[in-house]
Amino acid sequence: MRGYLLLLLAAGLLPNCAAGQAPKFHVLVFYSTSAEYDHVQFANDAVKFLENTGRGKNFTVDTTTNWDDCNEAKLRNYQLVVWLNESPAKEEHRQAFQKYMEGGGAWLGFHGAGYNDQDTHWPWYVDFLGGAVFHINSWPPLPAKLVVDERNHPVTAKIPESYVAPLNEWYVWKPSPRLNPGVRILLTLDPANYPLGLKDVLLSGDCPVAWTNTKYKMIYMNMGHGSRIFSSAAQNQLIENAVLWLGGGAAPAQEQQAEGMRISAQAVLANAKTNRVYAVSTGENAVIVVNGASRKATRVAVGKEPSTIAINSASNRVYVGNAGDGTVSVLDGATDQVIATVKVGELPYVVAANSADNVVYVARTFSNTTTVINGATNQTSMLDLNIQATAIGVAPELNQIYLIDQGDELTILEGRTNTARKIRAGDHLWGLGVNAVTNRVYLGSTHGPIVTVFDGKNASISSVKVGEMPCAIAVDSSANRVYVANYADSSVTVVDGSNNAVLGTISVGIHPQAVAVSPASHKICVANTGGSSVSIIDAQSNSVSATVKLGSGPYAIALDAAGKTAYVKCFGDDGVISIDLETQATSRIAERPEAK
Ligand code: ZN
Repeated sequence: MRGYLLLLLAAGLLPNCAAGQAPKFHVLVFYSTSAEYDHVQFANDAVKFLENTGRGKNFTVDTTTNWDDCNEAKLRNYQLVVWLNESPAKEEHRQAFQKYMEGGGAWLGFHGAGYNDQDTHWPWYVDFLGGAVFHINSWPPLPAKLVVDERNHPVTAKIPESYVAPLNEWYVWKPSPRLNPGVRILLTLDPANYPLGLKDVLLSGDCPVAWTNTKYKMIYMNMGHGSRIFSSAAQNQLIENAVLWLGGGAAPAQEQQAEGMRISAQAVLANAKTNRVYAVSTGENAVIVVNGASRKATRVAVGKEPSTIAINSASNRVYVGNAGDGTVSVLDGATDQVIATVKVGELPYVVAANSADNVVYVARTFSNTTTVINGATNQTSMLDLNIQATAIGVAPELNQIYLIDQGDELTILEGRTNTARKIRAGDHLWGLGVNAVTNRVYLGSTHGPIVTVFDGKNASISSVKVGEMPCAIAVDSSANRVYVANYADSSVTVVDGSNNAVLGTISVGIHPQAVAVSPASHKICVANTGGSSVSIIDAQSNSVSATVKLGSGPYAIALDAAGKTAYVKCFGDDGVISIDLETQATSRIAERPEAK
């Protein structure tokens, strides 16, 4: 009754517009407010976007966070059902949805709503998605260029042939929906994005992003992570098109499966004291040890899939995190012998050594518990810091350990007491550098152009405006200069550590993801992952003195003790590349002794 009155009122007040007409269709939006934070952010933005679009295009939008609304009687009232960040877990809700779709209903699903794995136990849904099963993802969320596959579809009709989608976590599916002849792929990740990721990196292959299974009136879109999804006009148009097409009622070739890998910025490290360089050889289950003086290399067998390294230069022990078997191999830095293999739990990702009290910290993917290795005994204990750290820094003088994940908080751990506190330190932190002389910690971000500075001595926070997406930081502690690699605008910002002043912004190659500096030579080397090159920066002039082209994207870099040679890990290479910074001559050090 009340609705009828309002309708009459609206019609009387606005005689020339569509307000008096019956809505063209009705949309019911399901979402969760307890899903992953970034998925909830997306859902909140999506609800606003859909409501807004509904006002302009004359459809109604009802929202619910209660899966009990997924019942036959309720769904009957809607022409389109949207799942923003979740799929139902209960059998009754699943059956009601299946009946709705098989009866001619329409569905639009985003990102987390399509996620399914061996624990989902809903084969019909996998079939409904075109057979797509979640395989891997890129991490952290990054923007990516998308290419329209299917220009003859109403949903992509007015979309540019390609556009840069705002930052998102990109899912890869195995099997890929493209293998299903009943699926029409609408959008695909442009292979020009590869390598894509700062931790979990997509390297190659075909990665569909939006598609429709023509057996149903449905569209799935992988977008849906974080607060930037609706910042692209092209993408907004695409989503609007999908809603209108689905609400109004409306045989691909086999491609190569997309593949990826997880990387660590600590895949190559130098021990300045001993002038040795250590690089993981993940596929060969080995570490390559290079003598910086003679450039002779040895290959040391470690655990399965070594991916990250830490050095305690005081004890001359090298710690290698082996992602494949959940161990850390302990090397004696003097003899290059593995003296212990320590079980640390699944998927060690980042290892950090605190020389102050001879303790090693191991953070693991998918675990909120940090493993602590006693450097003297190699005994382990667990520390519940409630963080899946992606970077760990140490200030030995203060005996403080700093941990960040992709969230907004810095965790500060007191080494002496094992007590931790958390402080808000920015948005979506990524990348960390410590000046062990000034005890300042620099934190990057994949969100905004800000580096956060934490002063470990007085616990104060400040910030510096840098380029877009500062994702890697190197500190020249002797000159007190900070070098920040800005992923999104392909530049390096130089910061004066004494007063946080920006001394310069230097253009480098495409998508720099790693940076190293030598306090001995004051040379800075930047790994341009997207550009498959290394930029060498001269600290005197704050300019690029040379750019060295490489065969594939570099993702980790270290400088030897004298700062005269760079060592680089590249995608698709189990060896390590050395670059002479004077002559720019490169040479590849293989993972195994070359055959004679
Ligand atoms: Zn996500």
